[in-house]
Amino acid sequence: LATTRDLIGDAHRRGGAVAAFNVITLEHAEGIVRGAAGADRPVILQVSENAVAYHDGELGPLAAALRVIAARATVPVALHLDHVENEVLLRQGTEAGFSSIMVDAGRLPYAENVRQTASETDRLHARGVFVEAELGYVGGKDSQPASAHAPGVRTDPDQAREFVMETGVDALAVAVGSSHAMTSRGAALDFDLIARLSERVPVPLVLHGSSGVADDDLRRAVAAGMTKINIGTALNLAFTGTLREALGASESADPRPFLRQAREAVAETVRNLIAVVSG
Ligand SMILES: [Zn+2]
Repeated sequence: LATTRDLIGDAHRRGGAVAAFNVITLEHAEGIVRGAAGADRPVILQVSENAVAYHDGELGPLAAALRVIAARATVPVALHLDHVENEVLLRQGTEAGFSSIMVDAGRLPYAENVRQTASETDRLHARGVFVEAELGYVGGKDSQPASAHAPGVRTDPDQAREFVMETGVDALAVAVGSSHAMTSRGAALDFDLIARLSERVPVPLVLHGSSGVADDDLRRAVAAGMTKINIGTALNLAFTGTLREALGASESADPRPFLRQAREAVAETVRNLIAVVSG
């Protein structure tokens, strides 16, 4: 099993990025690793708190499968637990083989975000976990109150620097124009801001909501200083779109022909995007 710390560290040193894809089902994980292997690039499999909720709040079964899939892959694969607000899940994640966790207190007012993130970071560091946090709400997640921040919010470079110094986090997700759950790729990123953040912030930067960003803009974002690129919705579009079409075209009761096509669509999407992101 690779670690997120190593994958991000390698990418950061060479001025590139590592792609992190959201896993919901076993088929997603198989498709993602197949795609990464096809492109011969390292990859991060990430599970969000929302995905754990889908599995009836049980992280264990999916995590066990991911550890085996990651360990057997022909490319380095690390496991990341994403957007965690629940403290119980923070503990479970460290025990389940996740080498990095995103502590999501981005919905809180700044001072409270700092306080909570710093105390969780201390606890996670004691267990050797690489910690990601968010400053400047990246919109579009259903579970987050839309009122917490205006949609056009941007992360301030000086505040981001102060936040990292005060909390001790290892990577920082920033708001630079992308939004979660976009089904089109028209997000307008603020590349100047990414460059300024990259200059001021002493840890690697993370782009959330990258499915809404066009290929060329993803390349520019990496060149400007983004080191971890989170991609979820693009896989859902590929998976569900393929499934919908396949189900409509056949009356077979066996789910495997449909899921096989959906899994291959995930692999193909990963092959394409990972080449864009990891250069
Ligand atoms: Zn996110």
